[in-house]
Amino acid sequence: MTSEYEKTDLLSLSPTELESFFVEKLGEPKYRAKQIFPLLHRGVPLSEMTNLSKALREKLSEQCEDRLPRIERKLVSALDGTVKYLFRLLDGNCIETVVMKYNHGNTVCISSQVGCRMGCRFCASTIGGRVRNLEPSELIGQVIMAQKDTGERISNIVMMGIGEPLDNFNNVVKFLSLVGCEEGLNIGYRHISLSTCGVVDKIYELARLELPITLSVSLHAPDNETRSAIMPINNRWGVEELLHACRDYYGKTGRRISFEYTLISGKNDSRENAEKLAAVLNSALRKGKDSMPIHVNLIPVNEVRETGFKRSGGDAIKAFAAVLESKGIRATVRRKLGSDINASCGQLRREASGEAINN
Ligand code: SAH
Repeated sequence: MTSEYEKTDLLSLSPTELESFFVEKLGEPKYRAKQIFPLLHRGVPLSEMTNLSKALREKLSEQCEDRLPRIERKLVSALDGTVKYLFRLLDGNCIETVVMKYNHGNTVCISSQVGCRMGCRFCASTIGGRVRNLEPSELIGQVIMAQKDTGERISNIVMMGIGEPLDNFNNVVKFLSLVGCEEGLNIGYRHISLSTCGVVDKIYELARLELPITLSVSLHAPDNETRSAIMPINNRWGVEELLHACRDYYGKTGRRISFEYTLISGKNDSRENAEKLAAVLNSALRKGKDSMPIHVNLIPVNEVRETGFKRSGGDAIKAFAAVLESKGIRATVRRKLGSDINASCGQLRREASGEAINN
């Protein structure tokens, strides 16, 4: 929670940790925590917390660091109002955050790491590897800043931005509890989805916590040969082990899992791939009476220059969905938001770091 300079990262603290900080570090009464927690979580800078004395504000500024991300660039889609932020962190690194406007409310898509070490071949976020994990303050800071800047309430969070959330497990779990605090953002577990490429040991660990969040699993292929060719994580945990963990997750939390399937022309989008996918999902997850509802989200691959992968044609996508439906598996093709601002994650950050190198 403290940096190398021993400054306290206030926004990463739970309400009780904040109380201890005031009492033990500053010799202040406990109620100070209640005074500042709601303000911190609305993105109010310490200097503007006028319910505290000037002397206390100065003391706090000396001892604490402000890890709220700063807006470096902001793009707004003329087509659907999607907003994409490039945020600059305290140490100069950049991450991306997207706000999507749906009829049921605003959803923010947040990053979980600076970069990613999972190496999925089609993904822009992993090209430069993982730089570091995000702190709980930097995770929640994206939601706070998105809400503050748009001036509209954020009601849902998806962890589908840059990084692998389960590779930053402890900070993500801390974030999930912080964001649900009633005195803060008050966004409950049921309004949060976490997407993973399949870090199986951490799926079991997450299941044991029994948090009612929605898990999205990036499957993208029905068999080990196809999956290992595009997702290196599959060499560690194969499809069967991954689906076993999914079944365990459903058993413990009762929350249905949604499977992400990115359609890449000629790689994983044939009729045979669709049939295999239906068969493997049905046999792994629909055994016995505790049959699990299955939903597959089909995403035409977003073409990234460096990967050379091409998106599947409209007919191939429709045919793929039809095969799944015919085998009793619900499949939807993801509506693309913010296509005019390149809203998929990873590319803006790469552009920004490219600029930095050129300068
Ligand atoms: N690491 C997590 C979350 C981040 S990526 C995960 O892998 O799930 C969010 C989703 O976007 C994942 O399903 C990921 O596989 C997918 N994705 C990554 N690059 C993509 C691209 N170029 N086109 C389409 N989907 C992509």
